[in-house]
Order: sequence, then C-alpha cells, then structure tokens
Amino acid sequence: MTHDPDCIFCKIVTGELPSFKVFEDDDTLAFMDINPANTGHALAITRQHWPDVHAMPEAALAATVATAKRVAGALQAELSPDGINLVQANGKGAAQSVMHFHMHIVPRTLGDELKLNWGLTPGDMDAIDALAKRIAARM
Ligand code: AMP
Ligand code: ZN
Repeated sequence: MTHDPDCIFCKIVTGELPSFKVFEDDDTLAFMDINPANTGHALAITRQHWPDVHAMPEAALAATVATAKRVAGALQAELSPDGINLVQANGKGAAQSVMHFHMHIVPRTLGDELKLNWGLTPGDMDAIDALAKRIAARM
C-alpha cells in the first residue's frame, strides 16, 4: 500500500491524524468532512494514495463508489435528507483541495442552493462526532 507522507488523508489512513470514522474495509475508509457543506457531509477515500481518478485503477474507483453508496444509505436512513449528492473533484480547476482521491457524500435539502464550489467552513466538532457515531451504527 503506497502512502504519501505529506498527504493529510494518508495520515488519516495510517492513524497519524484523527478522523470521525464511520466505515472502513480493506480498500477504503469513510469519515465525516470537518468543513461540512451540509449536515452529514462525509467522505469516502481509497486507503492507497491515488491523487485523482486518472491515476487510479478501476477496481479502486469501484471500491470507493461502493463505500460511498453504503455511507449514502446510512445517511439516508439516519437523516432522511431530500437528496444526496455523490461528487468528486479532479484537479485544482475542479476545486480539488486534497490530492488524494475521495468522493463527497453530501446530504441535500430542497432549496439549499448549494453550489459546486461550496468553500470550506469548519463545522461544530462535537456535533460532527455525535453524528459520526449515529452513522457508523447504521453501516
Ligand atoms: P476537495 O476540495 O474536493 O479536495 O475536498 C477535500 C475535502 O476534505 C474538503 O471538503 C475538506 O473539508 C475535507 N477535509 C480536509 N481535511 C480534512 C480532515 N482532516 N478531516 C476531514 N475532512 C477533511
Ligand atoms: Zn494520500
């Protein structure tokens, strides 16, 4: 398994950095985004460091999508949002800020008018922690 010592998501994979983890399997990890675009915003990542969709094998992409689907199901059951976006960015022009492949799982509310470049606003860590435990219990 290849990791980049300077990558924050690799540090989450290796346990050097903490995360509000909701799911893990052999190939992927899912945890809450600490700058949530909406309540329940989570991320699914590959354990291996692949910078973007172009760099990774299809199997790694498939594993991450499968984990994102699982997280989306738990979020739907726990929060009953009006919708959920599965989105991901490749390259700075697409607003990718962490160069380790990840999928966003973003619960949506009708009329929230969330834009694709939603910006990074820190969330309430206690609330995120509490919600992570509720989501993890549904995985
Ligand atoms: P992107 O801009 O598509 O690369 O998304 C990167 C996401 O990672 C952003 O939504 C950040 O809020 C999120 N993020 C950055 N650092 C952390 C962290 N330590 N724990 C959880 N989420 C993070
Ligand atoms: Zn990485």
